[in-house]
Amino acid sequence: MLSYRHAFHAGNHADVLKHYVLGLVLAYTTQKDKPFWYIDTHAGAGMYSLDNGYATQNKEYKRGIDKLVSAENLPETLARFVDEIKSFSSEELHLYPGSPKVAQKHLRRDDKMRLFELHPTDYKLLAENFSGKGRQVKTEMHDGFTGIKSLLPPPSRRAVVLIDPPYEDKEDYQHVNQMIIDSLERFATGTYIVWYPLLQRPEPNEMIDGLIELNIPNWLHVAMTVEAPSIDGYGMFGSGLFIINPPWTLPKILNDTMPILTRLLALDESSEFMIDSQIG
Ligand code: SAM
Repeated sequence: MLSYRHAFHAGNHADVLKHYVLGLVLAYTTQKDKPFWYIDTHAGAGMYSLDNGYATQNKEYKRGIDKLVSAENLPETLARFVDEIKSFSSEELHLYPGSPKVAQKHLRRDDKMRLFELHPTDYKLLAENFSGKGRQVKTEMHDGFTGIKSLLPPPSRRAVVLIDPPYEDKEDYQHVNQMIIDSLERFATGTYIVWYPLLQRPEPNEMIDGLIELNIPNWLHVAMTVEAPSIDGYGMFGSGLFIINPPWTLPKILNDTMPILTRLLALDESSEFMIDSQIG
């Protein structure tokens, strides 16, 4: 059953970390004059209104992107990210882009996007948000875990893949690991970005341990805690990204900017970040 709707969470601290890093990876990827594919296995609706609909319910963006928009003297990469997000709104921030729209900003004429979304309502919105893009963007109402198989390796032998499931089904954690194993067999040199929530349950850590045990030569793991885990044991207190074949420039950029991002998004004194990497 699909009950998760990303609109409730648009622009929250987890979106900020995920979309900031996604933009950094794509900015690096597009430095090379060779086309690439952007594949989003769990694309969502593509664009979210912050002033009406689900996002207004808990206003999660107020504790996320809003904190960056009102910050001064941001380092260059964070300032560029904020400008990219703001470019979707005319004046005040009232729209927040999903990962496919963040990615589209970086696309050049010969690059391609392949977007999977299973929820019928969000799929319809996604298709509308990308209508008229011809052969460059293809949206599919299909399971992203299996749909990716037919796309790898892409013709250009270059790809950035975002894997961002809702994890409302505990099996999503195992699906991610299996998908990475299958995808690396098909296409070992792709860049894969796996997003996951920090929760008081074992599955997220087990998933990351499983990825590390694959002995992939190049990876980077970044996680950010924004508040202390709750006493009742529920709720997301931060998020992380495990990136396979990251840009070699990414560790330095994150080492320089994660202290600032974590301070801006902190909800209490427990906020912290970690960066771990293996560059072969
Ligand atoms: N990547 C989006 C972004 O950053 O803007 C957010 C995606 S949201 C966390 C996860 C999305 O995956 C939801 O819209 C959900 O409907 C969709 N979904 C759930 N299971 C799926 C599956 N097996 N294949 C494709 N999409 C799925």
